[in-house]
Amino acid sequence: MDYPDHFDVIVIGGGHAGTEAALASARMGAHTLLLTHNIETLGQMSCNPAIGGIGKSHLVKEIDALDGAMARATDRGGIQFRTLNARKGPAVRATRAQADRVLYKAAIRQILENQPNLQLFQQAADDLIIDGDRVTGVVSQSGIRFRAKSVILTTGTFLGGVIHIGLEHYSGGRAGDPPSVRLAQRLRELPLQVDRLKTGTPPRIDARSVDFSVMQEQPGDTPTPVMSFIGSRDEHPQQINCYITHTNERTHDIIRSGLDRSPMYTGVIGGVGPRYCPSIEDKIHRFADKDQHQVFVEPEGLTTHELYPNGISTSLPFDVQLELVRSMRGFERAHITRPGYAIEYDYFNPQGLRHTLETKAINGLFFAGQINGTTGYEEAGAQGLLAGINASAQALDRDSWYPRRDEAYIGVMVDDLITLGTSEPYRMFTSRAEYRLILREDNADLRLTEQGRKLGIVGDERWSRFCAKREAIEQETQRLRDTWIQPRSAESAQIEDKLTSPMTREYSLADLVKRPELTYSDIAGLKGESVADPQVAEQVEIQLKYSGYIDRQKDEIAQMQRQENTPLPADFDYDGVGGLSNELKAKLKQHRPETLAQASRIQGMTPAAISLLLVYLKKRQ
Ligand code: FAD
Repeated sequence: MDYPDHFDVIVIGGGHAGTEAALASARMGAHTLLLTHNIETLGQMSCNPAIGGIGKSHLVKEIDALDGAMARATDRGGIQFRTLNARKGPAVRATRAQADRVLYKAAIRQILENQPNLQLFQQAADDLIIDGDRVTGVVSQSGIRFRAKSVILTTGTFLGGVIHIGLEHYSGGRAGDPPSVRLAQRLRELPLQVDRLKTGTPPRIDARSVDFSVMQEQPGDTPTPVMSFIGSRDEHPQQINCYITHTNERTHDIIRSGLDRSPMYTGVIGGVGPRYCPSIEDKIHRFADKDQHQVFVEPEGLTTHELYPNGISTSLPFDVQLELVRSMRGFERAHITRPGYAIEYDYFNPQGLRHTLETKAINGLFFAGQINGTTGYEEAGAQGLLAGINASAQALDRDSWYPRRDEAYIGVMVDDLITLGTSEPYRMFTSRAEYRLILREDNADLRLTEQGRKLGIVGDERWSRFCAKREAIEQETQRLRDTWIQPRSAESAQIEDKLTSPMTREYSLADLVKRPELTYSDIAGLKGESVADPQVAEQVEIQLKYSGYIDRQKDEIAQMQRQENTPLPADFDYDGVGGLSNELKAKLKQHRPETLAQASRIQGMTPAAISLLLVYLKKRQ
C-alpha cells in the first residue's frame, strides 16, 4: 500500500546516527519519519556502553552545541564520569562517561517521543524508490510505500551482516538482531562503491562470579564532570566504580593456541577491523613483546550484573574465550553471559559523498554513521546530525550547511572521509585536527551554537543560557583586562609566593592569568569578585592563557581559508599541469577535489604541487 502521508525526510535506522538525524531534521521543521527495525532498540549501544573519550567527546559536545541528544542522554544515563588528559592542555582534554545502557536508551527514546514533527515506525526498510537519479521514497518489509523528498540511510553494521564466533558464522545485524539483507542487495544494484569491514566485541561477564578484591579500583572523578553544556550533576544517576585487571602470559598462550580456529587468522573474515580498537588476538600478534594488556572491567548498568571487559574483544571460539577470561586475575571463576563475536558488514566508500553527506550518485539520498566506514557512537551521531540538517534543508528548499575543518571536529571527520576515503573503520582522534587549540571540547558551544540557532535547530532554553554565558565571558575578560595590580601592594603580596619572578611593574589581571604559575582562581578575586559559573571561569582562563597560540592558529586558518575559497573546476585538466607527478595526477583525477584546500589534504600532496595547481588555475582565468 501507499502510506497516505508524504514526508519531507525519512531516516532508516534508529541507532546513533539515525536518532540524531531524525531529531535534527524534525528540529529544522521537516516532517520526518524514523523507520527502524525495532522501536525497543532505539539508541541501543551495540558494544561498550560508554560515551566520549579522546577526540570522541569533542564530537559529543559539538552535537550538544547544536542541541542534539547524545550528551543529554549521557548525563541522564552516565554511571561514571572522568576527564581524560586532565593534566595536559585543554585542546586534548576529554570527557568520558560509562553509561547504564538501559537508562541511556530510555533517555534517547524519551527525547525522540517528545520531538514535534517526528514520527516513528517499526519495520525493516527493504527497498528504495528511485525515479531517475533521485530517491523518492522507501518500501518497507511488508510492502508499505513511504514517500519523501530526502532519505537518510543509517543502517550501521546491519547491511549484509555476518556474525563470527570461531569458525561458526551466521547472518545478523548485531547479536540478537536480524541483518538487513534485501536492502543490502538493492544497494549493490545502485552505482555506489561497496566494500566490507568488520568490528568485534568482547564476551560479557556476570559480576557475581568475579573477585573484585584482587583488581585495581577505578573511581570516577569528583567533582563529577558533566557532558552537556546545559546538563547538570543533579541529573546523574548513582555513580559507581570500574576496575582494572590484566591479561598475562598464560592468557596469551591460550589465545595463540586457538588461532587455528580464529575466523580472522584462518581467512574466513575478509573485512578490515578497527586499528585502534583491535581484538585481543590482534593485540598479542601486533605487540608480541608485551607480556600483559590492561583490561578495564566496566559495569553495563545499575540494574544488571553484566560487565563489559574492555580490551578483550574477540571472535575466538567460545571454549577459548572462556579459558582466556578465566586465566585473568579476578576472573578465575567468571561466568560468561554473552560470547564475544566479530561482525562483517557492507559499507560504502565515503568518497562517493558530498560534504552534506548526500550521495553524489543519487540525489536526495544521504548516508550517515557506520555505513560510511566509521566506527563509534559519537562518529555516527555527529554524521547523523549533519545529514539530518542537510536532508531537511534540501527538502525544505533551504541552504545546506556543513562546518569547515577549522570550525568543528565534525568538519574534520567529514572532510577526511569524503576526501581520502577509508579502508579501515575510521574513528576520531584529536591528532586528526590541525587546529586543535581552536577546536576544544570546552568551547564547542561558542563555535557552533549560534550557527545552530540560525539553522533553527537550537531551542530557546539552550540559546538563552548560551547568550548569558557568552556575555559573562566577555564581561569577565574585560574586567581582568581593566583591573591593575601594583607591585609591592596588598594584592601582589597574596600571590608573591606563587610567582617564579617578582612583579617589577604594574600588571593587569589578564596579564597575570597568562603566567604559567598562576590560575584564574589565584588572581580573579584579588580585586573585585571572581565569577561563580565554572564554565565561564574556565573559558576566561583558557582564552587568556593560550591567546598567543590561538591567534597564531587563527592566522593559519585565514591562510587555509583562501585555499578553501579557491574552487577547482569539476573538469579540471590535471594532465595539463606541467611538473605534477603522474602519481599525483592519478590521485587528483580519482578524488576530483572541489577546492584547493581539499586537494592539499590528499595523501602525498606537497606545497609545491599546490603551487603548480594555483599557477595553472591562474593561467586558465
Ligand atoms: P547502529 O547503531 O548499528 O544502528 C543501526 C540501526 O539501523 C539499528 O537500529 C538497526 O535496527 C537499524 N536498521 C538497520 N537496517 C535497517 C533496515 N533495513 N530497516 C530499518 N532499520 C534498519 N564502536 C566503537 O567505537 N568501538 C568498538 O569497539 C565497537 N565495537 C563494535 C562491535 C560490534 C559487535 C558492533 C555491532 C558494533 C561495534 N561498534 C564499536 C560500533 C558501534 O556500535 C557503531 O559505530 C555505532 O553503533 C554506529 O551507529 P549507527 O547509527 O551507524 O548504527
